Formats: sequence, structure tokens, C-alpha cells
Amino acid sequence: MKLEGLHILLTYKCTYECDHCFVWGSPWQNGTLTLEQIENILNQAKDAGVQSIYFEGGEPFLFYAILKQAVHKAADMGFSVGIVSNAYWATSVADAEEWLYPLMGRLADLTVSSDLFHCGECLGERPQNAIVAAKWLGIPTGMISIAQPKEDTKSSHGQIEDESAVMYRGRAAEKLARKAPSHPWEEFDACPHEDLREPGRVHLDPFGNLHICQGIVIGNLFEKPLKQICEEYDMESHPICGLLHSGGPAALVTEYNLPHASSYADACHLCYEARVALRARFPDLLAPDQMYGVVE
Ligand code: SF4
Repeated sequence: MKLEGLHILLTYKCTYECDHCFVWGSPWQNGTLTLEQIENILNQAKDAGVQSIYFEGGEPFLFYAILKQAVHKAADMGFSVGIVSNAYWATSVADAEEWLYPLMGRLADLTVSSDLFHCGECLGERPQNAIVAAKWLGIPTGMISIAQPKEDTKSSHGQIEDESAVMYRGRAAEKLARKAPSHPWEEFDACPHEDLREPGRVHLDPFGNLHICQGIVIGNLFEKPLKQICEEYDMESHPICGLLHSGGPAALVTEYNLPHASSYADACHLCYEARVALRARFPDLLAPDQMYGVVE
């Protein structure tokens, strides 16, 4: 497996608790990387040939001093660096400039989330402030906007996309799936969003878990070097990824003889529910608790 991008979840903590969040971000969540851990991760990423680093969460600006250092370190190491944020900190354009000024010249992208889930507005004032301030400082910007469940929008690949449909995994499976039209479970015979053999980019959480899709772990970077995890990754022999690739979430149900409903909102909904049912069997691969909404 050759990795181009690593998306680092600096923290599971977030200022919001959005219904569509598939990492269950929340003020009550725990798990945050230290600077020392981030430096270790960046060194491993370099060794593994990664070119692009994103800091996200949760809400990475909650740990601003660490984020700032991490961005500088990553940029100094030659990575292309991006941040995904809900822009809660951009209380005015002038103040947003203060937050962003120390990152100027180091960021290749600042993507902000703005939609009805985040602030009850399609384009919230704070995300707008952040974008205006970033443009003044010459920081390239992007926007993530997730449509409401019944709206007909294109699907998204991963987290960095514009105007995407909800993917019913994580908290969205629990909070939103029942509001969406449902389809027979047998129809979900492919994973529509992830390239499970060569994903290109993966997510790393504050516990060192490497996620090929949020909640599906292919190794732990605090236990084994990233380079080695990539070299040893074998999709076919992974008890979750192999089945998802060959027969989609429906294959998890049939192979492991899982109890199931007759219909689901989308493939991710069935995938997530099947994985919840399989967690006791594969505790290291379907982890951590944070990705499954288990908050201490
Ligand atoms: S079907 Fe499963 S593996 Fe594929 S994107 Fe959805 S949740 Fe992820």
C-alpha cells in the first residue's frame, strides 16, 4: 500500500456534537495527541513516503498551541499541510486573522465546515470570517458542506469534499439514518466510497490507530512503524476489508451471519451496524470506542 496523504485526528474533542459526524466528535470525547506524539508521527510519515498531512478532529483549533507547532514542524519537513476546522474561533474577520497569521505561509489549505448541522446556517458567519481572513493572508481555502438527509446530492469520498451527501456511519447512523429513505440490505454489495486496496490517504487517531475508513483499523502506529504497516497491509486477509471489497457491507452480514434489518439508508449505514455487531469479535480492528460513540 502506497500512502500519499495522512489525515491526523489531533483530537476527538469538538466544540459541537453534530448529528452527521462520523467520528462522534463532541465536547465530552477524550483522546488528544501530544506534540511529542505528533513529531513521532511526522517522522514516520516521512519515512513512509507520505506527502500531504491534514490536521483535523474533532476540532484541532481547540489545542491551538499544539496545532501551531505541528503545522510548522510538518511544513518545515516538506509536507503539504492542511487543516479542517469548524471555525468556531473566527468571531470576527480581524480576530480570525490573529488566529491564522502564525500559520501564514505554512498552510496549503484551510477547509472549514459550514452547513445546517454545524451552526443552523448554510454558510455560518464564523466560517465566512475564517475564509475572508485566510484569503487576506494568502491561505488557500476550501469548504465542507453536508446536505440534509433528504436532499439529493452527490456522495463524497472521505472528508474533504464540497456539498456532499450524508454518509450514515458513526453518529449519523444513529441520529439521521431513520430520516432517510431506506433500501434492501442485499443491495449494498460494494463499498461506494473507499479504495480499500490502495486508499491513497488514511486517518490516524490520537491512540495511534490507522483507519482505512473511520472505525476500521489496519494497524497501530504507536506499536509498529507506519512504513511497515503499509508494506504488510494485505486487504484480502483483513477480516473486514477483504469482505467489504469482495461483497460490500452485505458480505459482512452473510459471512458472519449477523442479525440485520430488512433495509438501510445506505451502504455505510449497513457497514456501520454490522461493524458494531462485530466489535467484540475483532476488538483491535473495529476500534476505538470513540469511533463507535462509546464515551466514558
Ligand atoms: S461502506 Fe463501510 S468502508 Fe465503505 S465508506 Fe461506508 S463505512 Fe466506510
